[in-house]
Amino acid sequence: MQNKINEIKNYVIQKLSGINAQADCQALRVEILGKSGKLTELFKQLKDVPAEEKGKVGQILNAGKSEIDAIISNKEKELANAAIQNEINSAEKIDITLPTGAECGSLHPRTIIQREIEEVFTSMGFVVEDGNEVETEYNNFTAVNVPENHPARDMQDTFWLDNGEVLKTHTSASQNRILKKYTPPIRAIFPGRCFRNEDVDASHENTFFQLEGVIVDKDVSVGNLIYFMKEMLSKIFKKQVEVRLRPGFFPFTEPSFEMDVRCPFCDGKGCPTCKNGGWIELCPCGMIHPQVLRNSGIDPEKFSGCAFGLGLDRMTMLSTNLNDIRELNSGNLKLLKQFGVK
Ligand SMILES: [Zn+2]
Repeated sequence: MQNKINEIKNYVIQKLSGINAQADCQALRVEILGKSGKLTELFKQLKDVPAEEKGKVGQILNAGKSEIDAIISNKEKELANAAIQNEINSAEKIDITLPTGAECGSLHPRTIIQREIEEVFTSMGFVVEDGNEVETEYNNFTAVNVPENHPARDMQDTFWLDNGEVLKTHTSASQNRILKKYTPPIRAIFPGRCFRNEDVDASHENTFFQLEGVIVDKDVSVGNLIYFMKEMLSKIFKKQVEVRLRPGFFPFTEPSFEMDVRCPFCDGKGCPTCKNGGWIELCPCGMIHPQVLRNSGIDPEKFSGCAFGLGLDRMTMLSTNLNDIRELNSGNLKLLKQFGVK
């Protein structure tokens, strides 16, 4: 029996020396160890071996099987490694400079305008702050002087959470934290996503983006506010712009204004963007209410401040000429990509 096994072993070694493909190796394995393989046939003969020798012959067969199996396995591993090495050496070289044909992403137009505005304000010494999207009722309303009976507190307008907190309804919700974080002089802007329980139409969204700014220092006046806004708008629209203030009312500023910009598209002559009025309503602003300063631990006798709230969606629509705010949250890539790549 041992001789027969040796014969098979030698046959295997000889065959393997001429094999260079994994498939041929596999075929040899079947030829020897498969159901009707040469070695398997020897096992079948075990039944004819006298009982007293069965144990010994069985052992010889099993040892031979293990040895031959190992020889074939080694060759298989050798060929597999060679195949990998071959692929590494001779595989086509990938030219990473070639276009892939895959679509590249682009920045959302609102992100682009936000970054441009941030850059302008940063160059004027402002810090850019982040704000929470879930805020306490105190920060969202009380701290910025929004009284109990203000419509913004109404269930109709605000998304209230079960724990009494709110999805911030305006970026002013971050004012208190930021005014507490720094000591005057303070120049900060804080862009953020806001939420109101609004009916959605071409100019209203339940999810929208604002960018708020505060300046707190000794003797801050409306003049400072106008200066910074004109600087920012001139850089964004790449031309000198004119602004005007109209009286407004907001609980967190006193006095309060609505700032308009002379339409940069028609220079005030009248066009569809300004609805032929020559002016575009841009942002609420004003001098920070003394109580808001006090709520943040700032003495209104020593310091004054001004604040403005830019609608980032509005700015985006102006810079892209989109006329439906819903497009900005639509995920309509075809449309957004037109403006996104810069
Ligand atoms: Zn116009």
